[in-house]
Amino acid sequence: MTIHELTSRLAAQPARRLAVLPTPLEDAPRLREALGGRARCPRILVKRDDLTGLGLGGNKARKLDFLIGDALAKGATSVITTGAAQSNHARMTAAAARRAGLAVDLVLTTADEPAPLEGNLLLDHLFGARVHMVPAVDPMLAVGHDEAVVRQVAESLVADGGRPYVIAVGGSSAVGALGYVAGTVELAGQLAALGVAPRRVYFASGSRGTQAGLTLGAHLLGLPYDLHGVAVSGGEPEKIERARRVAGEAAALLGADASVREARFFTDQGFIGDGYGLPTPEGLEAMRLAARTEALVLDPTYTAKGLAALVAHVRSSELGADDTVVFLHTGGAPATLTSKAAAALVSAPGWQNR
Ligand SMILES: *Cc1c(COP(=O)(O)O)cnc(C)c1O
Repeated sequence: MTIHELTSRLAAQPARRLAVLPTPLEDAPRLREALGGRARCPRILVKRDDLTGLGLGGNKARKLDFLIGDALAKGATSVITTGAAQSNHARMTAAAARRAGLAVDLVLTTADEPAPLEGNLLLDHLFGARVHMVPAVDPMLAVGHDEAVVRQVAESLVADGGRPYVIAVGGSSAVGALGYVAGTVELAGQLAALGVAPRRVYFASGSRGTQAGLTLGAHLLGLPYDLHGVAVSGGEPEKIERARRVAGEAAALLGADASVREARFFTDQGFIGDGYGLPTPEGLEAMRLAARTEALVLDPTYTAKGLAALVAHVRSSELGADDTVVFLHTGGAPATLTSKAAAALVSAPGWQNR
């Protein structure tokens, strides 16, 4: 499919423009220098989806453009979604709902009782979300028994005459995945303008809507790069199946054939560490490196692990100096402004080095 054709099919979908787009695609020369320079390290381009604007930004804004558009098209009066206490998705859903004049309920899972009122959770309250906390049952996956609470909340809203629209965890439904089909169109245009063909696109992968959209977009446009999703939590192979299904359903929304189901849905399992939301030494090092070379603010849960994979592949020479790679910065900075992230950062080796 041509970019033109895909753009017009995307334009036919309900959407509410909330994200600030396009986001910049920037060179990271100082990061490259710190990783061995032109002799050893590929050219690194950073796709700044941390700068999508909506409620402090991040990748969920692209999904929410389509999800909120769908909610409004269906006459919703409010949205409900789920996530961890420090969910960027929940925070951006609250922001998006307010921009669209909708009420918002968040059902959030926590292993700490009470969850500290900081970072994303503080912003959820600032945006006026009604927050319902449920205890975690599996810290590796960051899941709790949230379905029952979502059902109760939805029923009580309906009983009061409301029309709640439920958004899947991470916004990772077919509608949400359209955001990263559109994101791929944007990236492809920027790469073409620069005249570069990257070998890989690195990104942190959680609930898989980003992966589904990126894979579908690259498949439809026949783009040559490999998508290198870096898993931040367990749950394979079910999550691969989820990505496949969501990509197939998103293809159907676009009237495209579902052969994307045969595409490669790869995620690297090597950087999860002890589980979702638990910082890793190589992730903390990647955070310092990105901050001290390019003033990029990563987060310990997602983007630190994503960049740690890229750094490891430069050091192991899996990537060559002649390659170009893209790091998709998916956001998450509010989770860095928490006492847990601070404690991890200051106790990691290298913090004192200036
Ligand atoms: C949600 C999120 C991701 C992962 O996106 P999925 O579509 O859930 O896989 C990556 N980075 C950040 C900062 C996120 O908030």
